[in-house]
Amino acid sequence: MYIKSKKELEIILSTLKGFRRPKESLEQWQTPSDIAAVMLFEALLRKDIENKIVIDLGSGTGVLALGAALLGAKKVYGVEIDAEAISVAMENLSYLETIYGKLPVEFICCDVNEFSIRGDSVVMNPPFGLKKASRHADLFFLSRAFSLAKKIYSLHHYSEKSRKFLSRYASVHNFSAELLGTFKFPLKAKLEKHKKPVKHILVDFYYYQIMEK
Ligand code: SAH
Repeated sequence: MYIKSKKELEIILSTLKGFRRPKESLEQWQTPSDIAAVMLFEALLRKDIENKIVIDLGSGTGVLALGAALLGAKKVYGVEIDAEAISVAMENLSYLETIYGKLPVEFICCDVNEFSIRGDSVVMNPPFGLKKASRHADLFFLSRAFSLAKKIYSLHHYSEKSRKFLSRYASVHNFSAELLGTFKFPLKAKLEKHKKPVKHILVDFYYYQIMEK
């Protein structure tokens, strides 16, 4: 393990590069370093990171994937459809390697639906499904995650309806769903049409675990 505290992780993740031109249609909202550190430490304490194979679906600029590697994952796969985001993630990886030495992270440029390597856990911040083009994207990420690992840590846009839906959706896939917390998540607007620079939405942090028969 390269990092000893949540604060230390948050600080190092805050120095990583973000999306150059975030693509609205892909819902490229980077996870803020404080939220990423909370997610990753929760997974670490539940023994789902250290010496494990961790998958980050929709890895963007690599915040969660790289954080998992710094917390001692044996291998991390970051799966991302956008080649531009992958190139930023690779820069972030090289930068961290100048500090910590070689990290076991592989970024793969493909649709999450085409990725089929299994792991021990998934830690992800999928598209929230807020845009027309990506409606229900969080659900197809989640069903993909269910097929790849037994433990899943994921963020979802909060609504009472989606809370009910998600626990039902998990149980249909033979997973239990535990709500671990709710974050105020900043959607940083880069587009001129947005008047306010930052809008916040509420995002639920879930832990899904397979129900062993
Ligand atoms: N996980 C990153 C990025 C979150 S934004 C972070 O926590 O900062 C969601 C990411 O999912 C974006 O980078 C977007 O390009 C990616 N994405 C959207 N649809 C995808 C798909 N079908 N397959 C793989 N990645 C996808």
